[in-house]
Amino acid sequence: MDLTGQNFIGNTRSANGSNTFQGVNPANGEDIAPQYVEATADEVDRAVEKAEEAFRVYRRKSGAERAKFLEAIADEIMALGDELIDRCSKETGLGEGRLTGERSRTVNQLRLFAEVVREGSWVDARIDRSEDAPDIKSMKMALGPVGIFGASNFPLAFSVAGGDTASALAAGCSIVVKAHPAHPGTCELVATSILRAVEKTGMPDGTFSMVQGISYDVGTALVEHPLIKAIGFTGSFKGGKALYDAATSRPEPIPVYAEMGSTNPMFFLPGALKEKGSEIAEGLVNSVNLGVGQFCTNPGLVAYENSEEAQQFQQTVTDHFKKAEGGTMLTAGIQSAYKKGLEKLLQQEGVQLVANGEENGTSTTTGVPHLLNVNSKHFLANRALEEEVFGPSTLTITADGPEDLVEIAQNLQGHLTATLYGTEEDLEQYSDLVDVLQRKVGRLIFNGFPTGVEVNHAMIHGGPFPATTDSRSTSVGTTAIERFARPVCFQNFPDSQLPDELKDDNPLDIWRLENGERTK
Ligand code: NAP
Repeated sequence: MDLTGQNFIGNTRSANGSNTFQGVNPANGEDIAPQYVEATADEVDRAVEKAEEAFRVYRRKSGAERAKFLEAIADEIMALGDELIDRCSKETGLGEGRLTGERSRTVNQLRLFAEVVREGSWVDARIDRSEDAPDIKSMKMALGPVGIFGASNFPLAFSVAGGDTASALAAGCSIVVKAHPAHPGTCELVATSILRAVEKTGMPDGTFSMVQGISYDVGTALVEHPLIKAIGFTGSFKGGKALYDAATSRPEPIPVYAEMGSTNPMFFLPGALKEKGSEIAEGLVNSVNLGVGQFCTNPGLVAYENSEEAQQFQQTVTDHFKKAEGGTMLTAGIQSAYKKGLEKLLQQEGVQLVANGEENGTSTTTGVPHLLNVNSKHFLANRALEEEVFGPSTLTITADGPEDLVEIAQNLQGHLTATLYGTEEDLEQYSDLVDVLQRKVGRLIFNGFPTGVEVNHAMIHGGPFPATTDSRSTSVGTTAIERFARPVCFQNFPDSQLPDELKDDNPLDIWRLENGERTK
């Protein structure tokens, strides 16, 4: 397909601006054609106006119609074939295997949301009838046009057709995506798939738009537009917080679901270190270096009590780190931020470099694995040690005893995940630690590694600030749909004028709460 470098204002292409940029191959620093034209303020405005017009029609589409649309998007993405994988690999440095896996995750996610809206009970219909009080009926309804920002490290699954898009479209919202400048061609290819699906399934023009941009102006204009009713964001803390601040200082503040960075602390307990220290040491090093450490679930903090087994564990981790190979990072900017983050960490009191891996290859943006250590006294005295360093590094913390581990946990900010490696007896013995961690994260893992996030009905990928700007939700898993809907109550409405979900004879055959009883 010939890429044009243009924006999509609904189903129409547009490129009125003068600011241009190109994708860059991070492995060799070369620009990749074509030039992309940053959207003007007027183009952002037109995209949102169209999204509002489309929303008036799209919100009334049935769950079955929206399901067909989501499935059509999945099919169209698959139909792009190798072209998508090749372009994406060139723009991100990510390998074919990783990207075909991520594409499967992306289309499976769309199909899972299709199932959810086709079944229909997600709207949480509630009906209260009484002889001597008005009829009260409520259900969740779509919020309105949503602005969506994807991250550079998941160019498919957290980008144009990623989880935010799938859940917002499933809820009945029209969307305007701000394309990520680190993979503009990938964004354009996926956008064309969505637009084909819009046309094939008869969705209104404006259900989907995408604006390109390299400056913050485009994203800020989107967030500040009065017709945008919510924001889905995946990316850095700095970006998410800036957009959250912009959205909450609007005359009409709107919800921002920003999924940001995290250091995903892991606690290795004595029983596990004794039973299988060397096996888990290898698992840890693999998890830290997976995808050149460019995962929001990368384990950036590792705590354990000092003991003979712990020293042996640290030694095995060190040996593996020395052999670990670096790889191409997503962008030169991310590589430079990684180096600066490491430098800053190493300047902090008590932090020592234990080992670093091998450069490997000729890439201009290699990220080299680094293992650092600090003792719990210094860690507890310095908040900066908890900050995410996005890349293949981890900071091990040597604690003096069990109380130290609990204190470390108590002092943590919000994270996406925390992991406990131990035996069941360890868990019992460290119940205080488990208790504290439940208040700090969205997902608590036992005897596993945080990298790898299943997409299903029960998954929670979120957590208290600063991991996200709203700890009550998730960006992965089917409950993500709830972020883009709000409850609306109908009092004493005639049956014929109610949405199907609330009609007396339950024509959609969904689960509802009727006079307090869950029923079909
Ligand atoms: P990023 O630099 O924050 O970029 C994300 C998007 O936000 C881009 O479109 C970017 O556009 C825009 N943006 C950033 N700052 C902005 C501002 N001040 N005003 C307006 N727009 C702004 O993030 P990234 O480097 O792509 O992704 C890496 C980060 O994402 C890591 O920290 C990683 O942990 C996190 N991440 C989190 C999750 C999660 O689920 N929690 C998942 C994946 C990644 P410009 O590039 O044009 O600025």
